[in-house]
Amino acid sequence: MVALTAAPATSTPDYNDPTTCPTDSLTPVPLVEEPAFVSWQQDIPGRYLEMTPDELDERIRSARGVLGAKLSILGHHYQRDEVIKYADLTGDSFKLAQHAASAEGVETVLFCGVHFMAESADILTRPDVRVILPNMAAGCSMADMADPDDVYEAWDTITEALGGAAKVIPLTYMNSAASLKAFVGERDGLVCTSSNAPKTFDYAFARGDKILFFPDQHLGRNTGWSMGIPLDEMALWNWRLPNGGLTDEQIDKARVILWQGHCSTHQRFSVEQIEQARAKYPDVNVIVHPECRWETVQAADDNGSTEKIIRTVTAAAAGTTWAIGTEINLVNRLAHDNPDKRVFCLDPVVCPCSTMYRIHPAYIAWTLESLIAGQPVNEVRVDAETRKWALVALERMLTLV
Ligand code: SF4
Repeated sequence: MVALTAAPATSTPDYNDPTTCPTDSLTPVPLVEEPAFVSWQQDIPGRYLEMTPDELDERIRSARGVLGAKLSILGHHYQRDEVIKYADLTGDSFKLAQHAASAEGVETVLFCGVHFMAESADILTRPDVRVILPNMAAGCSMADMADPDDVYEAWDTITEALGGAAKVIPLTYMNSAASLKAFVGERDGLVCTSSNAPKTFDYAFARGDKILFFPDQHLGRNTGWSMGIPLDEMALWNWRLPNGGLTDEQIDKARVILWQGHCSTHQRFSVEQIEQARAKYPDVNVIVHPECRWETVQAADDNGSTEKIIRTVTAAAAGTTWAIGTEINLVNRLAHDNPDKRVFCLDPVVCPCSTMYRIHPAYIAWTLESLIAGQPVNEVRVDAETRKWALVALERMLTLV
């Protein structure tokens, strides 16, 4: 988690008091004042470091005016408000991927999200469309848990252990490197998001006997369970251990082999938090993201992608109460957009996605002004061979909708 400009500890409110959410104190500051800036992309010119939020706003709006309709700014739901206000379209990774694939007349996509999303946009857009990530240090800790070499080794070990007796279909979550999307594309597999994971499981089981799912164990386990697969038929592959920490018999028995990866943001949500929310608000509806632990999803009333969470809360009756288990920027926006409902985050502590948070308006101003000056920076390019197979895997997913 990043250290944020938050309220002093003495004023930290009851975590599920919707009137005093601690993240309300996350006010915009110049880039140099961001406590975590030291670990962000450093080669941004010094003149951007101390610009005030108002100066940056003026520069970004001016740059947008120059670039016009040739520029499309995409904003993931987990971006902070001071970034999301510039987005032409907001969405989860699936919605933004769909949009990138169908965009016409756009020459540059500025992707306010994390690295794997910008890679996917580059794969899905025309080759002449330039994709820019404002801050190249905006990665995803979950995606980083699936190192491609570890995945290739696991694949060889698992297929050797099975000896041709069962066909394995590799399935990667959108939150993974382009090279892993290409890997699954070459092996009859596909990509999934939290919006369509059950459909991709159906696709895989129609073509094979087992699934190797990476990098998020929780999405894989929650999806398998929702489709009737018992927990003891879903084995956990610990990539730090020889043979993934599994015996050949365990590999043989498993219908789903889950990579031992997780999202640090969503893994924080717990059964205890849900119990506390219910104790305080007996009529509360609890909805969480499927990147949460299995126990947490089981204790919640419902689970789904960020798009589903938004749809559900927006459509709910006035006066209802909602405890949400997902990233705080989205929860705060939902609370703001639904003043007739009580909407709050399950987590007692400020908990934004620390890598999504690395997109700061200073990076947006820098990358847009560099583009106008004819010296674009932070382009995300996927090489042709990787692109070819990753596109196969992504298109298999997009045709399932
Ligand atoms: S919320 Fe979790 S999965 Fe999403 S980008 Fe952040 S670390 Fe990665």
